[in-house]
Amino acid sequence: MDRQVVGILGGGQLGRMLVEAASRLDVKTLILDAENAPAKQIRASDEHVTGSFADAAAVRELAEKVDVLTIEIEHVDTTVLFELEKEKGEKLQIHPSPATIKLIQDKFLQKEFLLKNGVAAAECESVESTEVALEKVGEKYGYPYMLKSRTQAYDGRGNFVVSSKDDIPEALKTLHSRPLYAEKWCPFTKELAVMVLRERDGSVSSYPTVETVQKDNICHLVYAPARVPDSVQLKAKVLAERAVSLFSGAGIYGVEMFLLENGEILLNEIAPRPHNSGHYTIDGCATSQFEAHMRAILGLPIPKSKTGFALSTPYTSAIMLNVLGGAEPDSELEICRRALTTKGATVHLYGKTTRPGRKMGHINIVAGSMDECETRLAQIQTGESSSSS
Ligand code: ATP
Ligand code: MG
Ligand code: MG
Repeated sequence: MDRQVVGILGGGQLGRMLVEAASRLDVKTLILDAENAPAKQIRASDEHVTGSFADAAAVRELAEKVDVLTIEIEHVDTTVLFELEKEKGEKLQIHPSPATIKLIQDKFLQKEFLLKNGVAAAECESVESTEVALEKVGEKYGYPYMLKSRTQAYDGRGNFVVSSKDDIPEALKTLHSRPLYAEKWCPFTKELAVMVLRERDGSVSSYPTVETVQKDNICHLVYAPARVPDSVQLKAKVLAERAVSLFSGAGIYGVEMFLLENGEILLNEIAPRPHNSGHYTIDGCATSQFEAHMRAILGLPIPKSKTGFALSTPYTSAIMLNVLGGAEPDSELEICRRALTTKGATVHLYGKTTRPGRKMGHINIVAGSMDECETRLAQIQTGESSSSS
């Protein structure tokens, strides 16, 4: 569909699913990551680059081979991206923009920027790594409050719940040597997420609002659409689209939010890339978040409807279940085998070596109703067959 070659910084599961989507459009993709990274297994090429997306020389090597650079992880070297933006000008598209990646990769700067622009989010402040400073935060926000690493955070690694003054030494020990910020506690009733697509011309549109359930800070389940009233879905969509419209650069963005008891919605964080809460779109929508990202960064057509881009409309209700590594190698395959015997379920494995708690794959379940999806999920989780499956 397009002769432009796309370079992807990072070759984990998100990169892998981007390559799958690009391959169907016969768009060539080159990956920068370690040898045999999940994304490299999909499209073998001598031209992939071996190295780290945090290494300037390796990013430059990839940039020489491609027309468009994109990311599957935000923890990349942005200094070199700014340099490339200047040096290459029109010859190299970088999506999302280096400025967006830099702003988002520091979670405190991201939040400060959003709050300054009137996006509802929890009150927060950067904080020094001292007991006195953390006690002051406790006096101001009350307990519990959330202490977070500003950078290099994922799957809650970088977060510490400070439940009382007594937790402070432990919090400092755990988040030792990381730049920190503190956030007011959000007593949410549900976590919501919206995947927003930003096109090269800056227009935004989105997939439906979904509900995410985290277990030990890692995304466990996604319900699409979210099991909340339409008015709440709409409110989340409006907030997410407004937030993403503040950034620059094309592509898909994942917006995480908290729904509070009083109906208020606060933005938690933004990922400037495909996101775990959008994996259901592979089987639940005509166009997945991965294909949408490719189309947006390449400037390929995206049909529109009044409610968003037309191809995002889900056919069905969907649930996504993350498959994490267990204690034994390959133990995660047990649940995948059960999924293979379940109507409407599809298994997506990422080609990784098992480690306990590692994201090894996911299962998408689609059905005509959410009740039916939940019945099928129960069968996959417990192994007990039900009449409706
Ligand atoms: P991700 O893998 O999504 O990038 P992360 O490491 O950046 O995760 P966050 O999204 O900041 O971490 O937080 C992880 C989870 O911790 C959230 O999904 C939510 O369940 C909980 N959480 C985060 N901030 C707060 C808060 N201020 N109040 C209450 N719970 C919170
Ligand atoms: Mg995060
Ligand atoms: Mg998060």
